Amino acid sequence: ARGRVVVIGGGFGGATAAKYLKKWAPELDVTLVERNANFISCPISNLVLAGVKNIDDITLSYDGLKGHGVRLVRDEALAIDPDKRQVRLANGEPLPWDRLIVAPGIDFLYDSIPGLNSSEAQAQVLHAWKAGPQTVALRQKLQALRNGGTFAISVPLMPYRCPPGPFERVSVIAEYFKQHKPRSKILILDANPDIVSKKALFTEAWNTLYPGIVEYRNNSEVVDFDLRRNRAITEFNEVKADLFNIIPPQRAGAIATPLINVNDRWVGVEFLGFESKAIPGIHVIGDAIAAAPKMPKSGFMANNHAKLAADAVIAHLAGIPVNSSPIIANTCYSFVSAQEAVHVASVHKFDPKEQTLVTVDGAGGLSASRNRLEADYALAWARNIWSDTLK
Ligand code: FAD
Repeated sequence: ARGRVVVIGGGFGGATAAKYLKKWAPELDVTLVERNANFISCPISNLVLAGVKNIDDITLSYDGLKGHGVRLVRDEALAIDPDKRQVRLANGEPLPWDRLIVAPGIDFLYDSIPGLNSSEAQAQVLHAWKAGPQTVALRQKLQALRNGGTFAISVPLMPYRCPPGPFERVSVIAEYFKQHKPRSKILILDANPDIVSKKALFTEAWNTLYPGIVEYRNNSEVVDFDLRRNRAITEFNEVKADLFNIIPPQRAGAIATPLINVNDRWVGVEFLGFESKAIPGIHVIGDAIAAAPKMPKSGFMANNHAKLAADAVIAHLAGIPVNSSPIIANTCYSFVSAQEAVHVASVHKFDPKEQTLVTVDGAGGLSASRNRLEADYALAWARNIWSDTLK
């Protein structure tokens, strides 16, 4: 295969795609555009909030990709021009492509929480749903919270990045409170009718390990925020807390806007090679896509999408057929304390009739109970995926 491939976004999806394009077709000219200097991992970032890990533990270099021959461009991709087949950059010259991979992750829909729709408000009320400066800032706010203070976290309607992530966050912060601020409480304002992932495992951990600390409220979508009075506003009432962590509803990262064709939020793709249904020749992977049924927005899935997309891009450029029977998998570990974790796993196989990836019955599953071994597995999983993505 010969040609120029540009990848926008060096997260779990984009960095993996760039690496595997060069591994499988070293003759390709592969350029990765990423705005940030380093890769900061959302997986394990909840342990940073709990003070179990620090930000350096989840910060990784992009240098490993250079070793594979990927050209790294640290810049902001400003626009995709499908006619000229170029990506416009904030600082550098436009980048021409024969095939483009777009992997920008998510952006937040603050329009649906008007009181937070300003940079001043967003600097005060954090999401920490992209690991980085907000992770460090929320950790500091948690440390500053008085013993007896309430921490409230909001969960947006599905689909959002990492379905079990908010409940892992609650668990490890509950452990921090139990140890350091035993009179403090956690309030979960979930917009959904129920906990969407590993419900029984999370609630058992909260009831047993942190009795009286965690309160869960379903159907409690945050629809506004009163910054002056520090109150979250749901459809039914106003909620008081000392510290809010509002996770807003989400959409595909802004650069993907011309490709968005599902619910005004997500990019529709075909599930053999993740090619956009809106604009041919452009592949979209990771959290930005309208996922297949029961497919979570996870780093593990983004890494798997990346390999299918890289393989398809190489096939297109070589003029050979794209793999017609892909099968990929997902495991999401969640810490319920610093020592114990649980997991949910699934296998997704292409169904030619449905033209999508469907879960394979009998494959995958859920932990029987929280345990220490899975905490070791969870850390090993993180090290492995960081290495597979970046090294
Ligand atoms: P990202 O990893 O967000 O990458 C997108 C990249 O694109 C970013 O680096 C961004 O800077 C860059 N970018 C975007 N737009 C531009 C532009 N215009 N120009 C230049 N660069 C741009 N997943 C798991 O599998 N397991 C877990 O245990 C897990 N735990 C999580 C815990 C938390 C608290 C959170 C928030 C998420 C967790 N996830 C987990 C989910 C996982 O982080 C995401 O699903 C994953 O990051 C998605 O990968 P992505 O490549 O689509 O997006």
